[in-house]
Amino acid sequence: MRSGADYVRALDDGRCVYVNGDKVSRVADHPAFAGVVATMAAVYDASCAEGSPLVDPGTGRLAIFTCPRTREQHELRRTALEQWSALTHGFIGRGPDHVAGLLAGFSSRPELFDTERHQLGRGVQCYHRYAAERGLWVTNSIVPPQANPNDPTSRVRPVRLVEETAEGIVVDGAQMLGTGAAVADAIFVTSIRPLAPDETDRAVSFVVPISAPGLKLLCRRPYATAGEPFDYPLSTRFDETDAMVVFDRVLVPWSSVFAAGDVTVVNSQFFGTAAHQIGNLQSIIRLTAKLRFVTGVASLIVKANGRDTDPAIKGQLAELATVQTVSEALTHAAHSHAERDEYGVYRPAGKYLYAALGMQTEVYPKAIKLLGELAGGGVIQVPSSVRDFDDPEELAAMDVLMGSDRFPVAERVKLFKLAWDLVGSEFAGRHVQYERFYSGAVATVRAHAHRFYPFADAEALVGDFLASYRA
Ligand SMILES: Cc1cc2nc3c(=O)[nH]c(=O)nc-3n(C[C@H](O)[C@H](O)[C@H](O)COP(=O)(O)OP(=O)(O)OC[C@H]3O[C@@H](n4cnc5c(N)ncnc54)[C@H](O)[C@@H]3O)c2cc1C
Repeated sequence: MRSGADYVRALDDGRCVYVNGDKVSRVADHPAFAGVVATMAAVYDASCAEGSPLVDPGTGRLAIFTCPRTREQHELRRTALEQWSALTHGFIGRGPDHVAGLLAGFSSRPELFDTERHQLGRGVQCYHRYAAERGLWVTNSIVPPQANPNDPTSRVRPVRLVEETAEGIVVDGAQMLGTGAAVADAIFVTSIRPLAPDETDRAVSFVVPISAPGLKLLCRRPYATAGEPFDYPLSTRFDETDAMVVFDRVLVPWSSVFAAGDVTVVNSQFFGTAAHQIGNLQSIIRLTAKLRFVTGVASLIVKANGRDTDPAIKGQLAELATVQTVSEALTHAAHSHAERDEYGVYRPAGKYLYAALGMQTEVYPKAIKLLGELAGGGVIQVPSSVRDFDDPEELAAMDVLMGSDRFPVAERVKLFKLAWDLVGSEFAGRHVQYERFYSGAVATVRAHAHRFYPFADAEALVGDFLASYRA
C-alpha cells in the first residue's frame, strides 16, 4: 500500500508548476502546497493502517478504485468514500477518490473505447489497473478555457490532438482548470461538454503524468500562505489549489490514451459507462461531510454566544441541519437505490444523485450564508494574528472584549477564526464558487437531473386523475 512518504516522494518528478511568479519543481517543499501535501500524505498513511476501511480486502488496493460489481463491493466503496471525506472534512474536492471512480466506470465497458481506427478498450482497463495498483492521485481537467467565440482575434486553443505517432498522441492547447493538479500524480483530460461531429481534433480522452514534458500548470493565488494555521486553519491544510493547464505539444503514450479523434467515444464515455454516476457518488458524499462540518461550527458558535436556547436561533440552526440532512438523505437514497447496469456495475440511482448534485450549487452558498448570519460580527471581533497573544498588554485588552473563565479567549478566537475561514476568507469564497461550478454550470447539472427523473410516471398519475372525472 502506498504510504504518505511514497506519495510525497513521487511529487519530486520535475513537474512544471508556476505560482506567484516562481517556477516551482519541488511542490512538497513550497509553502503554497506543503499544507495540502501533508494532509493528503496523512490520508495515504491512514490507508496503510491494519484493517483500514480505505482498502478493499478483496483486491488489497484502495477501495476507491473498485468497480462495484457486487453489493458488497458497492458498500465497500461507499464506506471508503465516506472515510476519505471524513479525513478531509469534505474540503478536498478532487482528491484521488474522484477520478478513481471514473476510471473504474470506464473499465467496466472497455468495448466502448474500441473503434475502427483505434482499439483502446484494453488500454483503458490496463490503465485503471495500473493506477489502482499504485494508488495514484489522478485529477481531471475536462472543460475548455472560457473564451469569446465571437472574437476573431482570440488565440485561445482548447486542448486538441495535433499528431498521432507510433508512441502515442501529441496534444496541444489548454484546459480551464485542474483542481489539485499541482500536487497530484497525473491528470485526466477530455471534454465533458458534448462535441459536434466535426470536432474530431478536440475528441481526446487521456491521462498524462503531471511531469510530462511540455505540461505547464499555472496556479491561481495560493490561500495556504494566508497566515498561521491558528488564523487560517482550513486554508493552511486543505487548499488543494487550482491550476490552469497548458499543453505545449505533450506526447501522451498510447497506454493512457482512451480516445483519439473519436467524437462518439468522447461523447459517450461518461454516461455510456457507469463512470459519471460512480465518480459523482464521491461528490455528494463529500458535500455531505462538508455540510456536517459547517453545521458543527455553527452549533458551537451559537453555544459560545449563549444563544442555544433562543427559539429563533434554534430555527436558523435547524435550517442548516435540514440542508445537511437533505444532502445526507439524497446520498443515502442514491446509494441504496443503486441498480446493476447491463455491464454488471452498481450505478448510484441517477434520480437522487443528480438531484443532490443540482441542489448543491444552491445549498452550499445557503449553508455558508446561514453560518455567516449566526456568527455575526464575531468573525471580525478577533485579533489579527496568533502572535497577538504574545503581548501581555494586548492579551489584557482582549480580556475586556472576550474574557471568560468558562470559555478562554484563545478558544473563542480559535473558533471564530475557523468560522471566518468558512465564510469570509479567500479559501471560503473559493469553496462557494467550487460548489457552484465544479460539476458544470447549474443548467448543465440540472439537465442531468431532468434526464433521470421519471416524469412519465408522474404524468401518468395526473393522467389517471384527469380521466377520473368528466370533461
Ligand atoms: C473552484 C473551481 C474549481 C474547478 N476545478 C475544475 C477541475 O478540477 N476540472 C475541471 O475540468 N474544471 C474545473 N472547474 C471548472 C468548471 O468545470 C467550470 O467552471 C464549469 O464547467 C462551468 O464552466 P464555465 O466556468 O466556463 O462557466 P460558463 O459555462 O461560462 O457559465 C457561467 C454562467 O453562464 C451561464 N450559462 C452557462 N451555460 C448555460 C446554459 N447552458 N444555459 C443557461 N445559462 C448558462 C450561467 O449563468 C452560468 O452560471 C473548476 C471551477 C471552479 C470555480
